[in-house]
Amino acid sequence: MSELKKIDRRDFMRGAAAAGFVGATWAASGEKTEGTVWQLDPSKCTQCGRCATHCVLPTSAVKCLNQFNICGYCDLCFGYLQPGSRNRDTGAENQLCPTAAIKRTYIEAPYYEYLIDEDRCIGCAKCVNACMVFGNASFYLQIRQDICINCNECSIAKACPSDSFSEVPASKPYIYLTGDESTTKP
Ligand code: SF4
Ligand code: SF4
Ligand code: SF4
Repeated sequence: MSELKKIDRRDFMRGAAAAGFVGATWAASGEKTEGTVWQLDPSKCTQCGRCATHCVLPTSAVKCLNQFNICGYCDLCFGYLQPGSRNRDTGAENQLCPTAAIKRTYIEAPYYEYLIDEDRCIGCAKCVNACMVFGNASFYLQIRQDICINCNECSIAKACPSDSFSEVPASKPYIYLTGDESTTKP
């Protein structure tokens, strides 16, 4: 079982209510525009790492996605492997991701598929940065709306140095790189 178990929203809300958090955040819900949710614009993100550390949830609601129509399915994936790693096997010591959240699967020579295990992903953006600098820039971050509790003021938005966050219509809660959700699925 994954050590980064997916957050159970009901469990969190019960805990948060007991801690007085919900009252502080949702009492002001009248000030929040109806029908909006928080989301980050991947074109503005500078991969600072605060998405992993500034969410109010125990494990961030921000997760990495892979845009498969951009991904090179590379053997030497810079988002997957440690810099300078000569060994391309799947040992945790060879992986860049601190939680081993990226699953590498052989397709056909010389191509590999890279899937994100969102239960393990903490939104640290290390893979996003490496893929952007050295690869095809197919990895990017998004707030997962089934995990996010849609705080009145998103604490990551307040900490984000690149002003990447905004409230978007709940009917269109994701900002995909190509504007097409289907391209995030293999
Ligand atoms: S806080 Fe902003 S710049 Fe930093 S990783 Fe998150 S979206 Fe990117
Ligand atoms: S490197 Fe960070 S953002 Fe990328 S999959 Fe791993 S935990 Fe998620
Ligand atoms: S709105 Fe709250 S739960 Fe959602 S990403 Fe921001 S801090 Fe985390």
